[in-house]
Amino acid sequence: MKQKESLTVVIPVYNEESCLEELIARLLKLKNNSDNVEFSFIFVNDGSRDKSLDILTRYAETYSFFKIINLSRNFGHQMAITAGIDYVDSDYVAVMDADLQDPPELIEKLYEKIKEGYDVVYAKRIKRKGESFLKLATARLFYYFINKLGRIDFPLNTGDFRLFNHKVLNTFKNMREQHRFIRGMIHWLGFNSAPVYYERDRRFAGNTKYPFRKMFIFALDAIFSFSNAPLRIGSYIGLFMISFAILGGILMLYLRFFTSYYVPGIPAVILSIILLSGVQIFMIGIVGEYIGRIFQETKNRPLYIVDRLTNFPSKQKE
Ligand code: UDP
Ligand code: MG
Repeated sequence: MKQKESLTVVIPVYNEESCLEELIARLLKLKNNSDNVEFSFIFVNDGSRDKSLDILTRYAETYSFFKIINLSRNFGHQMAITAGIDYVDSDYVAVMDADLQDPPELIEKLYEKIKEGYDVVYAKRIKRKGESFLKLATARLFYYFINKLGRIDFPLNTGDFRLFNHKVLNTFKNMREQHRFIRGMIHWLGFNSAPVYYERDRRFAGNTKYPFRKMFIFALDAIFSFSNAPLRIGSYIGLFMISFAILGGILMLYLRFFTSYYVPGIPAVILSIILLSGVQIFMIGIVGEYIGRIFQETKNRPLYIVDRLTNFPSKQKE
């Protein structure tokens, strides 16, 4: 008999106690129904303050294919996914959320698709149930900008729900940047990719762990790490201001020497001061944004700190 291929599902978990039982039941079903894939699951507990870890630990005691990476505190969705991916050692990796917005059953479809000869298969949503107007509108605006600014023709309506092979896994593991926009990074890697369409369910239980503030920071991370365009905005505005000032100066000289219509104007002076200092502050802000990033990258901190590993072979634990 042909050896089964191995597939690890990485699932970031942050205060998901109300979703986990259902999630695990569906994952078990997925595993039991699969003839050609050997599933294992890595749950990354991202500093949950509820019973998530207890629930996970209970299942990990029964099933050795449930692995847990318990981070020492909340590092955020993207870091949690990174931690999980780092510990994967299988033919394929799937990444999905714990709140069942990404139906686990779809992984089987992603797998069928990837067997057609792709390296990455991403789940693309045709419908999103139960998400607020604000979320949908900001998401659309965000993808519009990231595509315009980053020039990377990023697939719309996708999250981090995707499946990729060992080749992509290994290259991805080498990207150690601090500000991580994982779906963009995987897209940036290239390789052959294809979508699989699905209807995104509403969250099974609990609330979103992405309040507007986190979403905004996430969007900034994506834009500033994938594009130098913001750096250029300042230069464009500066150039425009200089041209404006030169033309204005010429006009002023013309009025002064060739016509009788000349009003020495204090408002004009004040306005130009305000405008020019505005531009300067704006520039400093942008430069600061990049300097901040250089600062963080040069610190070269570990991206996350693992507190404890469950059900991993001892060589991975060190
Ligand atoms: N998550 C995490 N750390 C965080 C925030 C979220 O690990 O700081 C996990 C969360 O448990 C879920 C996934 O990331 O599995 C996506 O979060 P959520 O469903 O709240 O985001 P939304 O679907 O509302 O964008
Ligand atoms: Mg969700």
